[in-house]
Amino acid sequence: MDKIQLKTRSKTEFVDITSEINQIVQKRVIKEGICHVYVPHTTAAITINENADPSVKKDIVNELNKIVPWNDSYTHGEGNAAAHIKSTIVGSSASIPISDGKLTLGTWQGIYFCEFDGPRHREAFVQIIKSE
Ligand code: ZN
Repeated sequence: MDKIQLKTRSKTEFVDITSEINQIVQKRVIKEGICHVYVPHTTAAITINENADPSVKKDIVNELNKIVPWNDSYTHGEGNAAAHIKSTIVGSSASIPISDGKLTLGTWQGIYFCEFDGPRHREAFVQIIKSE
């Protein structure tokens, strides 16, 4: 298993980790399989979406902030309930098929580490599973 370490810079931020994951996949030299990306955090997430036009991730962040405002009648004492809720909505992992030794991402797709309670030191695990 490989690990990507990153330092986020804002409270809420989408960090494109596609190139780091591509490097891991290329290093493994497998033809067919699955690349599983997972974050071991309760206030972060993984998602796949457009990485060509930066306004897309800005719109996603803005809408998530409207759906789950930072201040509401939450009961969680740590004060970061909104970050926990966004983490659950977006999800803690993503799986991308590998074909011909490459991630089968669409032209406009990128893999994002989603920070919801930064800035912090974070990590993501990447496991490559070979198929026959
Ligand atoms: Zn908390």
